[in-house]
Amino acid sequence: MAGITLQAPDLVARIATILRAAGSSAEEADTVAANLVLANLSGHDSHGVGMVPRYVDAVLEGGLKPNTSVKVQLDAGALLTLDGQRGYGQIVGAQAMGLAIARARELGSCVMALGHAHHLGRIGHFAEMAVAQGLVSIHFVNVLSRPVVAPYHGGDGRFGTNPCCIGVPLPGQEPFILDFATSRVAQGKMRVAHNEGRQAEPGTLIDERGRPTTDPGVVVVPQPGGGFGALLPFGEHKGYGMAVACELLGGALTGGGTWHRPADQARAVLNGMLAIVVDPHKLGTADAFGREALAFVDWLRQSPPAPGTDGALIAGEPERAARAERQRHGIAVDAATWAEINAAAAKVGLAAA
Ligand code: NAD
Repeated sequence: MAGITLQAPDLVARIATILRAAGSSAEEADTVAANLVLANLSGHDSHGVGMVPRYVDAVLEGGLKPNTSVKVQLDAGALLTLDGQRGYGQIVGAQAMGLAIARARELGSCVMALGHAHHLGRIGHFAEMAVAQGLVSIHFVNVLSRPVVAPYHGGDGRFGTNPCCIGVPLPGQEPFILDFATSRVAQGKMRVAHNEGRQAEPGTLIDERGRPTTDPGVVVVPQPGGGFGALLPFGEHKGYGMAVACELLGGALTGGGTWHRPADQARAVLNGMLAIVVDPHKLGTADAFGREALAFVDWLRQSPPAPGTDGALIAGEPERAARAERQRHGIAVDAATWAEINAAAAKVGLAAA
């Protein structure tokens, strides 16, 4: 089967149909589908509609609960502790951020701890919610799923791709949105490389015995010993430290839980997220903040392009450029992913599209 290129609204409609057939209300299905398609539009196909087969499996296994809202466990002013109750991360994550944003606007800041959310998708989405209201937003997230990332100098996978995100509004300009996994590359990118017969960059992977390898299959298909290899963290010991911080803050401090057991076969992916939201106006530095942030960003932009490059970018710009391009030309879904999406549709009683 060939791949397909669809305009964003058509892709949203197809995905929403599948999610409705998997038990979601029309409103939930539309919201989750729009969020996934926005990840594709933003250039992050690893967190877009390709997740749907896994979501459908997780619903059928009972690990992901459609039509579930966030539950308030503790409401103490600038501190909010919330339970995602295994609901769609796109739903409970947005509800949780809505509460945190309202609290930060009222009190100046909010520390929001969210546990037991199903996959939150692109974390930048939540930072974008906060910066749209003029707020700064910091996110530490852990992933409870097969542990695919090895500790620095460790020999096997012990934790997930634990993303970290910082959103900063820039007055009169598009915001700074730094949003990345703490693994060197996304697991999804290794699946694509394996399917296409490509090798990974040196320094990205270790095999089942902890030895460096460039074969992406080590994290995609079970290895001769029955286990898997692992991804390495970005930035050696520093990225490794960030990944551990995400586990300690997003997993332990939220109460959502850390990963400390062998891999299982469950299809659900749970995330814990610690979010810190700050209102610069309430901090009393809004004028200086706006002035100094813009001056610094302008200063960065004046750096001469290094040879062979287009020059320095600000985090968030690549995603906005991808959105403009894909809004115009459509979203290409590769053949393997489209086949998996049709197979997921069949599991919930729909014909192939
Ligand atoms: P990535 O490696 O593409 O890095 C993206 C970040 O780097 C963005 O902030 C982008 O604006 C910035 N960036 C990229 N090129 C730049 C340049 N030339 N100059 C300046 N900034 C630049 O992203 P990734 O690590 O593959 O993560 C992809 C997505 O996956 C993220 O949205 C992340 O939240 C998500 N994720 C989610 C989970 C989960 O469990 N929910 C787990 C891991 C990752």
